[in-house]
Amino acid sequence: MQIVKSVAEMQNVCRSLRMAGSVLGFVPTMGALHEGHLSLVRRARSECGTVVASIFVNPLQFAPGEDFTKYPRTFEEDCRLLELERVDVLFAPDAAEMYPNGSVTTVTVSGVGDRLDGTSRPGHFTGVATVVAKLFHVVGPTRAYFGQKDAAQLAVLRQMIRDLNFDVELVGCAIVRDSDGLALSSRNKYLSPMERGQALVLHRTLLGLEQMIAEGERQSITLVRRGMETLNTGIGVRVDYLAIVDANSLLPVTSVERGTLVAVAAYVGSTRLIDNFLAT
Ligand code: AMP
Repeated sequence: MQIVKSVAEMQNVCRSLRMAGSVLGFVPTMGALHEGHLSLVRRARSECGTVVASIFVNPLQFAPGEDFTKYPRTFEEDCRLLELERVDVLFAPDAAEMYPNGSVTTVTVSGVGDRLDGTSRPGHFTGVATVVAKLFHVVGPTRAYFGQKDAAQLAVLRQMIRDLNFDVELVGCAIVRDSDGLALSSRNKYLSPMERGQALVLHRTLLGLEQMIAEGERQSITLVRRGMETLNTGIGVRVDYLAIVDANSLLPVTSVERGTLVAVAAYVGSTRLIDNFLAT
């Protein structure tokens, strides 16, 4: 695996690969890799001639006071895992390389970017859209792989790709969970053993709602009320949102249809966790 740290070199490497006719599959990450990330890499490996990954903890998507400085950084181990998955090129710039002094341009996806996590984390999706736009310009991928775990992020990036005419296919990949149902996340590392148990209420809530929908309940108001009851049984859990929304616009819907997004965000102790499902 070739590890590249500079934008200019990465652009050269990726340009050469494209000119040689290779289809580039790109998996952007913030590192601290787990099976969720690796599922995206495997999907890219199975669909593309060349697999490019990136590791960059993007300061722009963290608000002051959020966990940017304590975000887990496990670069050596990440490289080992990516090698095992036969990643061809890893882009791992530092913050000064991505945001040199004097850079001022950002990408704001209005509306969609202000909903769900965008409401509770103002500016977060501007940080995400900006770094992903830059990474797309550096790599020039044919396909880019993102997790359904971050459903709002997918909606924001879909909108950005459409609005800015990025010639890239966005591939959304299913949520990978631990055996007890907790969605894998780099932030799960913050949880104490007790909090790890408390965090299971997120998945339990979603399973309950999935079941109600399967049994024919379609009214969002009823589903949200029931879901909040379950979440509120969680000790040490503070709900940020439980929302039933259109998966593209992230606007609330009154009635659930196939493809409607049911999403939850909650703090377990001081750790913010998210999870969701798409109604079938
Ligand atoms: P992150 O490193 O948290 O920025 O995540 C990098 C990519 O991995 C994003 O597209 C995430 O949606 C995806 N991802 C994170 N956790 C999971 C998971 N449990 N299952 C599937 N994809 C995931």
